[in-house]
Amino acid sequence: MYIEIFGARGTHPVCRQDYIKFGGNTTAILINSGEDSLIIDAGTGIINLSRSKKVLKNVLLLLTHYHFDHIIGLPYASFIYSDSINTLVMGPSILDVGVEDVVDILSLPIFSPFNITDRGANLSFNTIQDGDVVERGNFKIQALHSPAHPRGGVLLYRIEAEGKTVVVATDTEGYVGSDRRLIDFASEADVLIHDAQYTHEEYLRHQGYGHSTPEMAAEVASKAGAKMLLLFHHDPKHTDAIIEGKEKRAREIFPNTMAAHEGMVLEL
Ligand SMILES: [Zn+2]
Ligand SMILES: [Zn+2]
Repeated sequence: MYIEIFGARGTHPVCRQDYIKFGGNTTAILINSGEDSLIIDAGTGIINLSRSKKVLKNVLLLLTHYHFDHIIGLPYASFIYSDSINTLVMGPSILDVGVEDVVDILSLPIFSPFNITDRGANLSFNTIQDGDVVERGNFKIQALHSPAHPRGGVLLYRIEAEGKTVVVATDTEGYVGSDRRLIDFASEADVLIHDAQYTHEEYLRHQGYGHSTPEMAAEVASKAGAKMLLLFHHDPKHTDAIIEGKEKRAREIFPNTMAAHEGMVLEL
C-alpha cells in the first residue's frame, strides 16, 4: 500500500515562506494498491496529485464532506476528464445535498469554465453513508458519520488493503475522554490520520468549530492501539514552527506521531 499526502492544510490554502515544510494545499491523500487508486478529498492538493501521474486506472474518490477546503480542487483534477481512467466519486448526503448535487453546483458556469459532469465521460457517482461498507478493487472501505463538525457532520473512513489499515478522521472534534465510537472504528489501525487543527490554547476559543488538538488526536491513537499517528488539517495561521510544536506535544502522549506534510510518502 502506497500512501502520499498532497494536501494537509485545513480551512483554506496558504502560501508563505514559513509554510514550506508542511505545505499550504488543502486536503488530498492518495492511496495506491495494485491497479487501484483511492483518493480522500479534493482540496487544492488534488491538483498536484493529478499532475503527479501517480493516479492509476481505477479511481475511487472519497469525499468526507463538502466544505470548500475539501472540494475546491475538483474542477482542476485532470484525471476526472480522462478517457483511460475510471473515476467513481463517493460522498455523503449532508443537509439533504448529495455528492452529485455538489458536482452539479461546482459545474455552474458562474464558478468556473469547467463543466465536470459534461466532460467527465468515465465519471460516476454514488452516495455513501454511516455504516456503509464498500469493496472496490483492492480496497475495503467503511464509513462512520461523526456529528462533531458543523453543521451536518463529516464521514470518517477506515480503509483496508493488502492486510493494512488506514483511518482518516479529519474535521472532527474530540470529546472529554475521547470519542469512543472513533476509538473502536480506528482499532489497531496501522496509520491514523487525525484532525489536529488547534493548539490547546486556541481550542479554548474555538470549541464547537469541529476541530481537534494534537492532544485529542494522540489520545485517540493511543486508546485505539494505532501504530502511527499523522496530525492533519493544519490551521492556515500555523507556520512550520507552530506545527512542529504541535507534533512535539502529541509525541508526549503518543510517541509515533508525525505532522503530515505535502510530499510525505508511507509504504506499508
Ligand atoms: Zn476542513
Ligand atoms: Zn469542514
